[in-house]
Amino acid sequence: MRFDVLTIFPDLLSSPLEEGILRRARENGQIEVGITNIRDFATDKHSMTDDRPFGGGEGMVMKPEPLAAAVKTVTAEKQARVVLLSPQGRQFNQHMAEEFATDYEHLVLVCGRYEGLDQRFIDTYVDEEVSIGDFILTGGELAAMLIIDAVTRLLPGVLGCAASVSEDSFSRGGLKYPQYTRPREFEGQEIPEVLLSGDHGRIAKWRWLEAMRQTMAKRPDLMASLELTKAERKMLEKHGIV
Ligand code: SAM
Repeated sequence: MRFDVLTIFPDLLSSPLEEGILRRARENGQIEVGITNIRDFATDKHSMTDDRPFGGGEGMVMKPEPLAAAVKTVTAEKQARVVLLSPQGRQFNQHMAEEFATDYEHLVLVCGRYEGLDQRFIDTYVDEEVSIGDFILTGGELAAMLIIDAVTRLLPGVLGCAASVSEDSFSRGGLKYPQYTRPREFEGQEIPEVLLSGDHGRIAKWRWLEAMRQTMAKRPDLMASLELTKAERKMLEKHGIV
């Protein structure tokens, strides 16, 4: 999968791509990430990418011509979904990360700055606006990186163990069960006995119940969207979870 990020601050994006799973995915050719400086497409002699808003008011607005030229360049050879990071967009979540990972081979992530972008660029070149939450960032770069990270780990072969993706929080609608590692005792606290039993059936049942318990306690809003069988519902009632 290819990501192209359009930004006026390209240096902001380099270090997260050089560590951990994103680095390995790039080295293995599972993802390609291009970072394009919108300033390189400015046409005036001061390389201006922003200007004052028509109608007056505070702040600056990103000019449409450099943005359009940058999008045209990165989409010239490969069809792409052009996504504008924007607090006004559809809110990003695990479901959208899965959609991006399966439906598109090329995502262009346009990072705004200042007061935002000229609306004519958005109307003409942007397929979709995506928000990472109801708060305002100084720019779209961190939001773009967050999307690259969440989508990349879903691509086939990127994580060592495919099961870890399907067991993640949100993959099945609820949260993940609690996990423990060595030592067996930490500051007087033992790990749940069932995890030492070697009985995979018991462990799976315990994990499912604990996942339900965590979801109910931390994110009760997610419970409604879970597809539970009659027997599962009964089990939750029996264990006092619902
Ligand atoms: N004036 C704009 C508004 O009120 O909608 C906010 C502009 S913000 C300071 C600058 C840029 O940061 C935006 O153009 C967008 O690219 C990015 N940004 C800010 N908050 C974001 C969010 N919650 N999700 C995604 N991108 C965001």
